[in-house]
Amino acid sequence: MRIPMVDLAAQRRHLEPGLTEAISAVLDHQQFVLGPEVGAIETALEHHSGARAVVTCANGTDALVLALRALAVPPGADVVVPSFTFAATAEAVRLVGARPVFGDIQSDTFTIDVDAIRRHLASHLDAGNPMPVGVIAVDLFGHPADHDALDQLASEVGWWVLTDAAQSYGATSEGRRAGTLGTLVTTSFFPSKPLGCYGDGGAVISPDGTHAELLRSLRNHGAGADRYDNVRIGTNSRLDSIQAAVLLQKLKVLDEELTARERVAARYTDAFTGTAAVPPVTLPGQASAWAQYTIRCPRRDAVTEALDAVDVAWAVHYRSVLPDQAAFSGSPILGSLPVARAATAEVLSLPMHPYLSAPDQDRVIDVVCSALADLPVRHG
Ligand SMILES: *Cc1c(COP(=O)(O)O)cnc(C)c1O
Repeated sequence: MRIPMVDLAAQRRHLEPGLTEAISAVLDHQQFVLGPEVGAIETALEHHSGARAVVTCANGTDALVLALRALAVPPGADVVVPSFTFAATAEAVRLVGARPVFGDIQSDTFTIDVDAIRRHLASHLDAGNPMPVGVIAVDLFGHPADHDALDQLASEVGWWVLTDAAQSYGATSEGRRAGTLGTLVTTSFFPSKPLGCYGDGGAVISPDGTHAELLRSLRNHGAGADRYDNVRIGTNSRLDSIQAAVLLQKLKVLDEELTARERVAARYTDAFTGTAAVPPVTLPGQASAWAQYTIRCPRRDAVTEALDAVDVAWAVHYRSVLPDQAAFSGSPILGSLPVARAATAEVLSLPMHPYLSAPDQDRVIDVVCSALADLPVRHG
């Protein structure tokens, strides 16, 4: 039996018959777009995250675009973005007519390195580049970025901080939920994310409630008093009621799922410590959402061949830094991105989900450990 990266069928077995009943209820009331479930999931997410306002939308990429529009990023402005993330983070910057400036990452958490931004900002400005207007932090693989350091830098230079929490809804940082850290926060409900629906979905989270009304207007054709009163250019980026109904069911078990992910991660880390570089131990008051369990190994091809041979899924997030992709070529970079470049050659993500059984996990551990047995010991 193949071991997949995520097992949504196992989750479905756990959630039925509630899931099918919730979807059926939408088929009965027929309010397919912005129906009652949409308001209900927004309220439920506000309670769960502790944020003042949650505005759902069509997907996590739109959430970034809507947030950047709400932050009034001027065309041509520069926005600092990590170089090691999913393309959507930087794509959104280009979609609002701004320019991504790529920064390096920390080698342990893979999140943006605030010290590296500080080291390279002066020479970047000296070269004639404008002062960026803000920074997008990504809680990559579910691990919170260094929000303390980001807030500190942002307050010194007058930036906003937009947190891309597409992979980290439910994580904790400084004792607070991810979703409450940042000027605005976005997330994605793509099926394989820690909180996923059965199609596309996303949300913009406003920790203090500012911009909520503007975001609601932007996602629905710039509506004013109603849909046919258009007070600005918006777009169509609404969550549909079936996806909201699915999310309401999945949110009920999210916290128990996060605990189960934590258990899987702890077991992997026990087994791999001393053999491969493992994800960092979280600080007190901090918890990852474990969207991915990602190790670093020097001879990655040897390990992936061994995993293929026994039918265990794996993934490489990400094989190149974004400024090396054709879409972003020519973008300014802060320094030469040595840490991000090294990560692209070594990262390997293993099956990680709340329903991964101990015997299946042992299969993954055995094949990775034996493939790595002859390799030199790395940090961790
Ligand atoms: C998935 C993801 C997105 C985009 O979300 P979609 O819902 O697929 O548009 C953005 N940023 C990061 C870091 C992601 O992992």
